[in-house]
Amino acid sequence: MDGADAIDVARASRGSFSADPQSIFETWAEFGIWAKTGLTDAPREPVNFGELQCPIPAPRQLFAVGLNYGAHNTEVKRSSSAAPVVFTKFVSSISGPYDPVHHPGGDLDWEAELVVVIGRGGHHISVDAAWGHVAGLTVGQDFSERVSQRTGSPPQWSLAKSYAGFAPLGPVIVTPDEFARPDDLAIQARVNGEIVQSARTSELIFGVPELISYLSEIVTLLPGDVIFTGTPAGTGIGMNPQRFLMAGDVVETTIEGIGSLRNVVTADSELV
Ligand code: ZN
Repeated sequence: MDGADAIDVARASRGSFSADPQSIFETWAEFGIWAKTGLTDAPREPVNFGELQCPIPAPRQLFAVGLNYGAHNTEVKRSSSAAPVVFTKFVSSISGPYDPVHHPGGDLDWEAELVVVIGRGGHHISVDAAWGHVAGLTVGQDFSERVSQRTGSPPQWSLAKSYAGFAPLGPVIVTPDEFARPDDLAIQARVNGEIVQSARTSELIFGVPELISYLSEIVTLLPGDVIFTGTPAGTGIGMNPQRFLMAGDVVETTIEGIGSLRNVVTADSELV
């Protein structure tokens, strides 16, 4: 889809809801009620999807999960663990769905991921209640620099995945009710048009409800928080021979029913 009709929420609600996308999650329940009833007469305007920016630009917490697809764990020669492997991508790494990603040196790799956006926050959320805390699903790309992640001294998972532009998100957030089966979506990554990752989110070892329940046993989840759920097989480090990104490469990340990110790798020397 290249375009669609959209509603300017701030104008249609006469300022009840802000034009700042991050603030909408603070009043997600009220927004949902308004969206079901208040939009009938709202003016619609065409939107060019190519101009969309990040729909969750400033979450207070960003969780990421590693080793959460069995076939990926096999390709990186790691065994699955009894609980999710959790780290963070620091929020300054967040970028828009079509932003370039600067090559930081080292071994730059791709990781297509389903990303969960929290609506209603909470602590001790049960597996059964978890979907009720989800505002929606979006597409994420967990760009990773493998040298500092794996063989640095010490290895730095969170930092190696937090260079500027390493967390593009978008292009839209889709509410769970829009999917026939929100826990079984096709996910794919392409590099220069070639499919390198292709899986379904039903292959997640720890699914969305389990991740929300596990995280919320320890931390309080806040409205607008973001969870990267892990990547399937087909990463560059898992290939034989290994393959990493270079300047000029185009990485496209797609999830069924949501859309695609498109990020071009730019050279070190283009850093500003
Ligand atoms: Zn990842």
